[in-house]
Amino acid sequence: MQNDFFTPEEQKTRQLEGFQNTVRHAYKNSSFYRRIFDENNLRPDDIQNLSDIEKIPYTRKNDLREAYPYGMAAVPLEQILRIHASSGTTGKPIVAGYTKTDLEYWAEGVARICEMAGVKPSDIAQISFGYGLFTGGFGLHYGLEKLGATVVPFSSGNTERQLSLMKDFNTNVLVCTPSFAIYMAEVARELGYDPVEFGLKIGLFGGEPCSEAMREDIEKQWGLKATINYGLTEVIGPGVSGECMQTRGMHILEDLYYPEVIDPESSLPLPAGERGELVLTPLFKEGFPIIRYRTGDITRLIPEKCPCGRTTRRMDYITGRSDDMIIIKGVNIFPSQIEEVLSGFREVSPHYRLVLHKQKGFIKDLEVQVELTQEGFSDSFRELEALEGRIRRHLRSTLSLAPRIKLMEPKSLERTTGKAKRIIESEEF
Ligand code: ADP
Ligand code: ZN
Repeated sequence: MQNDFFTPEEQKTRQLEGFQNTVRHAYKNSSFYRRIFDENNLRPDDIQNLSDIEKIPYTRKNDLREAYPYGMAAVPLEQILRIHASSGTTGKPIVAGYTKTDLEYWAEGVARICEMAGVKPSDIAQISFGYGLFTGGFGLHYGLEKLGATVVPFSSGNTERQLSLMKDFNTNVLVCTPSFAIYMAEVARELGYDPVEFGLKIGLFGGEPCSEAMREDIEKQWGLKATINYGLTEVIGPGVSGECMQTRGMHILEDLYYPEVIDPESSLPLPAGERGELVLTPLFKEGFPIIRYRTGDITRLIPEKCPCGRTTRRMDYITGRSDDMIIIKGVNIFPSQIEEVLSGFREVSPHYRLVLHKQKGFIKDLEVQVELTQEGFSDSFRELEALEGRIRRHLRSTLSLAPRIKLMEPKSLERTTGKAKRIIESEEF
């Protein structure tokens, strides 16, 4: 669609317009932003060009928590047609309300993301994201319908039935978290199928990180093209960015969402192309507008043009989420760093979790539990011990810290039909 092909100048003009409208609307109608602006001696007219937005303070997750449930609303509640909430992994859930226009922009955006990924109106897409307060299910649902695809709204769970309907309905597009795609392949094999027989063509995966190793695994097992998309409830839901068929980073729908990357510690903007915390401003939102939201997600904007010809900038894969950063003995660690080391060992699978052994609230020790593959499984204690030692040494050189390693039997870690829970806390007394 044309919006993805605007020249950078056209894009900037539209972004400024979107920013100014959003700021005016928020100042006039949101008690939260009215206060922020007044406290900072700002008026909507102070935003004359895009660099002026740096005068506006960031909005943080905590602001949204404190506004629970309707404190961020900027329209009367009668105009809100739908409510969603974030999964609430870390504390009180964050609520988002959508007007009719918000829902239309959202569906339009998701449709663009799906089209970029190669989905055609003639395709049959099974949505295996949860339907409910989580934005994943409904977000993809209305986007795919808008595109004209046939939607099978399965929701998450009930894996065997998912598989049998997928076969019966000739589904060729699968929408879910990458962990669920891996789990479904595992169940398909247990039922005696080769997942390739299902004839899936495209995967639209999101909601959680997907390492290159996981992506390769999914593509190989299902014989599909795996694309990744990104979004979050606070900003809209899925459909902020997504991969085109080049699958080298996710194009941001820049006419709808304005991205910035900042240093998470100093909160200062970073030079183009550097990795830091993603800050987003949706440029159309009426219901619960949000300005300069600190997503907590760590990524970078890719400065190079995409070979597909779209002019919208791409963001790199999320390498961490500030919520998930583990600080242990003064060392900062992201689960993705551990995952990357593990993916270099063919003896272990993508199923892992990190147990934080805590004492008096502090992390005393980190334990990496990872499943062996059939290939890595062995009766020889010595072989397993040697493998543990190799993984540990590798982790030590990457993280400057040597966690405990626990090799688990194949299929012993809990599987998920939604987002994988990688971090478990265990308090020791
Ligand atoms: P939460 O998981 O915070 O309760 P959401 O359901 O709104 O709330 O999920 C949004 C979050 O999921 C994002 O902030 C990001 O951390 C993660 N996420 C979404 N898509 C991706 C992706 N493609 N890669 C990595 N992380 C993602
Ligand atoms: Zn592209």
